[in-house]
Amino acid sequence: MTLEELHEVIKNCTRCPLHKTRRNAVPGEGDIKLGIMIVGEAPGASEDEVGRPFVGAAGQLLTKTLAELGIQRGDVYITNVVKCRPPGNRPPAREEAAACLPYLLKQISILKPKRVVALGAVSAKTLLGLVGKEVEKVGDVRGRCYPGKIAGVQLEICVTYHPAAVLRNPRLGEDFRRDIATFFKGGLDRYF
Ligand code: SF4
Repeated sequence: MTLEELHEVIKNCTRCPLHKTRRNAVPGEGDIKLGIMIVGEAPGASEDEVGRPFVGAAGQLLTKTLAELGIQRGDVYITNVVKCRPPGNRPPAREEAAACLPYLLKQISILKPKRVVALGAVSAKTLLGLVGKEVEKVGDVRGRCYPGKIAGVQLEICVTYHPAAVLRNPRLGEDFRRDIATFFKGGLDRYF
């Protein structure tokens, strides 16, 4: 299956109840040329509206942070753990995340990232859980990278705050920017 074919499957998916309330599924977008994939929690209202990830206020902060590092957003593959918007932007339910997880696994197996940047608690807990690491609070693992194998792909899972959390609490901004810089610089130096 190609990435484009997978995106089509996701757009038509009815595996969990979120399909009933979405306007558009949000499979993901971008390129893997830097070897890095960014994984957030779930689409919000702006993303649901247009079917693209990280296009609202949090997405603009992410795009700006990447641009300040000289990284074109289009050179990074960006997606979420859950591909359809939970109503009212509530966190995805465990069953919804479980129903959607095979799509993230398939994206990893197709794209073979060297590094996956997990934004926020839902993404960090999901991805680190796949390599056997339990996470209580994102603050316990933030700013670090953990090696592991997901969907047969050896990679590193690197954790930082979700940009929506940075918007709510600007004091997290410095750590967020430093983490993104470290994860991308380390990735670029090490693999390219
Ligand atoms: S959230 Fe995932 S599993 Fe649920 S309907 Fe959307 S694509 Fe399918």
